[in-house]
Amino acid sequence: MTDKFDGTVFRRGDAGYEEARRGHMWNARVPARYPDVVVQTGSENDVVLAVRMARREGLRIAMRSGGHSWAANFLRERGMLLDMGRLQEWSINIRARTAWVRPGVIGTDLNRALRAHGLFFPTGHCMSVGLGGFLLQGGFGWNSRLWGPACASVTGIDVVTADGELVHADATQNSDLYWAARGAGPGFFGAVTRFHLALRPRPKVMMNSVYHYPIEVMDEIYTWAAAIRPQLPRIMEPLVFMRRDLFGHSGPGLLVMGPTMADTREEAVAALALLETCPVLDRAISREVNLETELEELLSGGEQMLYWKEHRYAADNLWTNASARELLPAMHRIAESLPGVPSHMMWILWGPEQELPDMAFSMQGDIYVAVYSVWDDPAEDRKHQAWVTDRMHDLEPLGKGIQLADENLAARPFRFMSEENLARLESLRAKHDPQRRFHSYMEPAA
Ligand SMILES: Cc1cc2nc3c(=O)[nH]c(=O)nc-3n(C[C@H](O)[C@H](O)[C@H](O)COP(=O)(O)OP(=O)(O)OC[C@H]3O[C@@H](n4cnc5c(N)ncnc54)[C@H](O)[C@@H]3O)c2cc1C
Repeated sequence: MTDKFDGTVFRRGDAGYEEARRGHMWNARVPARYPDVVVQTGSENDVVLAVRMARREGLRIAMRSGGHSWAANFLRERGMLLDMGRLQEWSINIRARTAWVRPGVIGTDLNRALRAHGLFFPTGHCMSVGLGGFLLQGGFGWNSRLWGPACASVTGIDVVTADGELVHADATQNSDLYWAARGAGPGFFGAVTRFHLALRPRPKVMMNSVYHYPIEVMDEIYTWAAAIRPQLPRIMEPLVFMRRDLFGHSGPGLLVMGPTMADTREEAVAALALLETCPVLDRAISREVNLETELEELLSGGEQMLYWKEHRYAADNLWTNASARELLPAMHRIAESLPGVPSHMMWILWGPEQELPDMAFSMQGDIYVAVYSVWDDPAEDRKHQAWVTDRMHDLEPLGKGIQLADENLAARPFRFMSEENLARLESLRAKHDPQRRFHSYMEPAA
């Protein structure tokens, strides 16, 4: 620990403040929320100095790593924005199959480095998702139906506490902090400077089958998808997307796919065979089966099809254990009102629910439904924000809770962890951050 500061401090009104406020934010919809100070950290030591500065100046702290929070959780009015996006070092221990990463590391970069060693980590589904926020909120990563949310593979953290002390936390020391860091997401009360990870052997085969169906068969598709869900092997990530203008066909359509990570080709083919049981297979507009693929291809395919850069986004989501019959009326309302390309609805056939380690992350369900609205004109912000919020309000009576990855808590508060875990999290916050130095979850404006 030294007093030497390697980063940059921008106060409101300083040249460069606005650029620093936006930083590497992924969503082009930058909210009009203005921190008093933006601190771009250049080292772990800077994080300690920044937290101590916030204490001295009586500032509340919001944090940013990869800048992918749809809701821009890291931008709050007044206080300090502590930006750790430049902390991008990592280290891999090949023999022990472990790694540590700084919070600004991009998941794809980590997996690119691991590939040379036949190792893998369940990083996010788009090229640029940062590990900091991703790991804290849970982390639906590649092969997470098998391995669990990415935070289940976090074995420890280094964290600057509200007192401005840098401590290590794992199962045996500061275990409260370790418990909370795996799932508290934007409600975590410390600045994580390093995550310690358990790595996996890299799956030898990556395969996918992709089907495009017209919207007219949506009842059949969703009913069938929900029915086969319990038999779907955990090595497959079964997804149903609804989007307009698929492959030159106007109007909404459905895309069914099952990225699969297996040890052998036979295992992958056997898993994907279930997608061939669709009762309306003969209605598929296109059908590509058992395509051998690679992580980079899966990542870029998702970005090209669904997650276009430099656009405005709103997102919301829900876990549900309801039947297809119960869900269908709301699915129709989504189809009827779906905004333009590449706005979409995603179903992940996630369940049966997995047993999880004892950690804050505790909300999952059979089916994950998420809606993403995408547009360009700032004058339409209100309309698109309302669309995602209203569509999920509509489903709320059938919902179990939400995933923090796609949270919309400022517009639609809903439970995101078990009641027991939330109570424990709040009592840990009171103990470790009694002055609420760190911002917590966003809430609707009073
Ligand atoms: C295109 C796109 C694709 C996505 N795909 C996936 C996916 O496949 N799976 C999935 O699970 N999620 C996905 N997400 C959601 C994403 O995981 C979350 O937005 C996550 O927060 C991103 O991590 P980040 O570091 O970019 O977070 P940021 O936006 O930088 O931070 C989000 C919040 O996390 C907290 N935080 C961040 N860093 C720290 C830190 N170092 N210490 C303490 N608190 C911190 C802060 O409260 C902050 O407000 C996606 C998002 C986008 C935009």
